[in-house]
Amino acid sequence: MSERKIRGNVINRYLGFIKKTWGKDGEEQARKESGIVDINISDSNFYSNEIMVRILQWISANHGMERVKQAGKYTTKNLGLFAYMVRFVSMDTMLHKAEERFKELYKFGKIDIEISENKAIAKMKDVSEVEENCQGWIGVLEAMLELTKTKGTVTQTKCQVSGDDHCEYIVEW
Ligand SMILES: [Zn+2]
Repeated sequence: MSERKIRGNVINRYLGFIKKTWGKDGEEQARKESGIVDINISDSNFYSNEIMVRILQWISANHGMERVKQAGKYTTKNLGLFAYMVRFVSMDTMLHKAEERFKELYKFGKIDIEISENKAIAKMKDVSEVEENCQGWIGVLEAMLELTKTKGTVTQTKCQVSGDDHCEYIVEW
């Protein structure tokens, strides 16, 4: 497998959530846990996804899985990559853009979103390594509903971490 790399701005937004929620001490602990104590993560560079996994695991181990989902939601709302377009955009348009946004942020895995009227099926192959990743993605999809002021639900129906061929999420609105 080629090296799994993730863009720094995703890591920085998760660290931002940690700092906002648990303060400087929380951020320091999470940085320690993920081996980036003295490393300045640049928004535009790419880093090992191992850092991201450890940060997510720090959140779940210390504060529970629900917080991981919240972190995914916060990150999506503050990434900037989506922010410029969200004000006038529908869920449909946002999901259409999501695949290309994903490629700008993740140098691994594959995301495929089938969109029909009021429903989308998001398939993610080789994206999630641990359950925390999946929870994060639920938060990301919920954030898209909130950003577009759409009432709806996100349900995970398949999970590669627990043995399925890929992770699958159904978004209905
Ligand atoms: Zn999964």
